[in-house]
Amino acid sequence: MSEKAKETEEEFSFKCPSCKDGIITINKTIYDSQDGDKLLILKFECNECNFTKNDIIPMATKMIPGMITLKVKSERDLKSKIYRSPTGKLEIPELELLVEPGPRADFYFTNVEGILLRFEEAVRIYKNNLNESDPQYSDIEIILGDLDKAIKGEFPFTLKITDLAGGSYIMPQDESHYSFEPREYERSDNEYNFNDS
Ligand SMILES: [Zn+2]
Repeated sequence: MSEKAKETEEEFSFKCPSCKDGIITINKTIYDSQDGDKLLILKFECNECNFTKNDIIPMATKMIPGMITLKVKSERDLKSKIYRSPTGKLEIPELELLVEPGPRADFYFTNVEGILLRFEEAVRIYKNNLNESDPQYSDIEIILGDLDKAIKGEFPFTLKITDLAGGSYIMPQDESHYSFEPREYERSDNEYNFNDS
């Protein structure tokens, strides 16, 4: 096991995605780099198994409430990194996927592919509990077919995160497939510097 990081704060805890029993603790550290950028370093650790994960999120201008949209058109887009904070709502309308905000919702710090794989697992479990005569059964089979194609990059879809607290993040592989729309009431001319790149 790793040694305890010091001077970090604990804010959220979640169920372990690996062993499903343990609790994941997230330690957040903010690091100031020499060129003035702030980086958020997240360390995920399970108290039961060996699951541990580190990641770094640049705290750029995107900590702003609003809607992030990523058009996933190819296999490359599937590698775009995503952080859905507990205040973020995640949707893929074409696949009827919706994750509502809330501390009970699974946290997502993964890439697009990771979200699809997790969703596929959930849909399969749901399907296994359905009777074949259930009217939902054929719909579920269609979704699973689309999901399989999506995981291979053969089914274009739109991934949206709406975050009213502004903690969620997408790091696109292809900037031209990414867009960000701040919340209406947050708009006050030049108060924020949006990246046009
Ligand atoms: Zn675990």
